[in-house]
Amino acid sequence: MRMVDRLVPGVTAVTPHARYYALHGLVAAHADAVGLAIPATQTLLRRTEVALATVSFAHHPQSLEWLPRAHGVDSLARRLHSGVVEVGEAATPGKEGYVRNSWGFWGPYSGSETALGILGSGPMPVPGPRLDATAVRGGLGELLELAHENTLRVEDLASLSERLCVCAGGDQSDGPWLASLMCDPGAGADRASRSATRRQTIQLLARVVATHPVGFFTQDVGHALAFGDFLATDTVTSGIEAATAWRGVVLRNYAVGAWRRLWSWLVEQVDGLVPVEELADHFAEELPDMTVAAFLSALPPTQSTDGVPLPAEHDLRRAGDSLPLTELRVLATSARRVDELDGRVRDAFLGQRGVELGPEWAQRRFDTARPLGLRDLARHLTYDLVTRSQRIALAKARRRADGSLWLPTRLHERGGLLYRTSQEGRGDVGLRLDQLGTVLATCGVLHYTDQGWSVTNYGKALVD
Ligand SMILES: [Zn+2]
Repeated sequence: MRMVDRLVPGVTAVTPHARYYALHGLVAAHADAVGLAIPATQTLLRRTEVALATVSFAHHPQSLEWLPRAHGVDSLARRLHSGVVEVGEAATPGKEGYVRNSWGFWGPYSGSETALGILGSGPMPVPGPRLDATAVRGGLGELLELAHENTLRVEDLASLSERLCVCAGGDQSDGPWLASLMCDPGAGADRASRSATRRQTIQLLARVVATHPVGFFTQDVGHALAFGDFLATDTVTSGIEAATAWRGVVLRNYAVGAWRRLWSWLVEQVDGLVPVEELADHFAEELPDMTVAAFLSALPPTQSTDGVPLPAEHDLRRAGDSLPLTELRVLATSARRVDELDGRVRDAFLGQRGVELGPEWAQRRFDTARPLGLRDLARHLTYDLVTRSQRIALAKARRRADGSLWLPTRLHERGGLLYRTSQEGRGDVGLRLDQLGTVLATCGVLHYTDQGWSVTNYGKALVD
């Protein structure tokens, strides 16, 4: 996640919409122009976000295939489907409103907006050095008028929704402004700067979109970056420095996802009070009776004869074996890459060195276990993971007011017996490519049709 943060500055896992960058800029410019204090700015920001959610729902009551709904639409669903939104009531923060936070959805976006220079830093949105007040007013200024209404009727918003919807930024004046901030054509000079890195990531994404069928960014762009000879043979991509770091990060993400899936599966097996050894046996029973050496030698090839990474992890997950066996194979595959990768790809793949469960750790673990049975290795790994989880929980433990101990874990251990209080999540850690993709799409750089993603002419001019 640290590497991803370096490679995609200005976009996070919770910022899928270009128009919120513009909306918060609009609110900052307006508050600055008329001298609003913090409480009045908060109210205005929430009311404009309610207006944006309402007008976006009016544009397409069904969610789009390629873009998440506007923020707050789910919480406002009952009101939106009734066709009438009382703005003041909907904008009141809390359980009944569109959001709980008094700053609406500014929180998820604020770090990115400051990093991009849209906003200055401070306790409320203030204009930053790169805010173009004319562009955001031209694109979204009508939202300020809607925000002042007492009542919004969905059926009255049809024509406004064409211009104001979260999907429509690319055709309005805020789109090109944000697109040029994101793509930052002037960033080339200082290659180590954050905006130069973001530009490279965008160039890479756009190049993969232009040369491959892409329906889903993380899945399809990730695959093109991780595997095959595209990085070396494509004339454009071979000149983009960040490409090698991306290859390492996407490859590493398979191992991170494997540990998360394995751990989640283990926690799921804890039903009632379960001794650790019984959990270890559960894991072992899911695996074939063979030595670790035989298991390792039966893995699919991870590189071609000329050293190009092959999609072994991807293929293993599609093979339909049980989760524990599949993910253990993915981990062993990833461990093998430690000696196969080199240069920047390897640096990005390994990330911080010497950490538990990292690829080098896994490589040593598999290697020293070669003569053992695979099932014994699984038992050892179960103990490793349970011990590690309890250690992390203790390190993060807090004393409650009544003196009892609060442990931030779903799996608890007492005297060798395990029990769980809830399930663990098993999703992959996000690479933020989906969010970067939809931000670029909603400011006019990319375009989606039922054929998949493409780069607009405007986008081409910005990234080339
Ligand atoms: Zn729309």
